[in-house]
Amino acid sequence: MKKRFLAFGLAAVFLFLTGCNWLSDLQFGVQTPLAAPPVYTAEELPAYAGNPFVALYENQPRFEEEEKTDRSYEYYSPLDALGRCGYAFACVGQDLMPTEKRGSIGQVKPSGWQTTKYDHVDGKYLYNRCHLIGYQLSGENANERNLITGTRYLNVQGMLPFENMVADYVKETGNHVLYRVTPIFREEDLVAQGVIMEAWSVEDEGDGVCFCVFCYNVQPGVVIDYATGESRPETAENSTVATYVLNAGSRKFHAPDCESVTEISEKNRRTYQGTREALIAQGYSPCSRCNP
Ligand SMILES: [Zn+2]
Repeated sequence: MKKRFLAFGLAAVFLFLTGCNWLSDLQFGVQTPLAAPPVYTAEELPAYAGNPFVALYENQPRFEEEEKTDRSYEYYSPLDALGRCGYAFACVGQDLMPTEKRGSIGQVKPSGWQTTKYDHVDGKYLYNRCHLIGYQLSGENANERNLITGTRYLNVQGMLPFENMVADYVKETGNHVLYRVTPIFREEDLVAQGVIMEAWSVEDEGDGVCFCVFCYNVQPGVVIDYATGESRPETAENSTVATYVLNAGSRKFHAPDCESVTEISEKNRRTYQGTREALIAQGYSPCSRCNP
């Protein structure tokens, strides 16, 4: 047990130190009462840098005092106008855990759902129906408020180790763990950028389990259009990260040395680091003068 937590702690510290770029304009889906999570601003979410998750807030979850209870419960936000999940919140105890084997969830179509296969993806399918609160924790299965379109990588490399940690702890101690999973969508996107996972063990005040991480909804080797869920294989061309200058007014992007850059008003001018593909997916088009 100790070993596992130590390993996680080291991984979290390492990951926290490696994240230094920022995603832009991230927003939450609709929030409703019962312990709405604190707002994580765009600046707080590091861009994907090759690790399936990164620690946020020095790995400290942001639960309020009044949320700290040793009574099991679970809550799932209603879907928003675009059919997207909001946060899911549970106080996980043994009494919440399933006693039956999981049934089928194939009837649920989360926002942005696509059945796309890639040979290099484990199990072939790019997307899984990802439980926000894992079935092993809550026994909640084909609940549309608890399932998002998530990559295999998010499901297995990102979320599963944290779910397992919570499940093992609750089974071994009989204690409770506050557990909140919040999908982060950019603007009107149907597919989440990733999920924030927070957990804190109640009876021992976070000694057993305590984390706050962001898990990336990415799949190595695949370029995802988060607006729709469409995807294509990564190529040398579409995966090259470069610096561009954006005009947020005209929605054009430029090479940094394009003469038009000097004509962009300060209010609309942004520097962007990332792939050309990602910019086009966000609705930007290349300047015809510099042809970036
Ligand atoms: Zn230009």
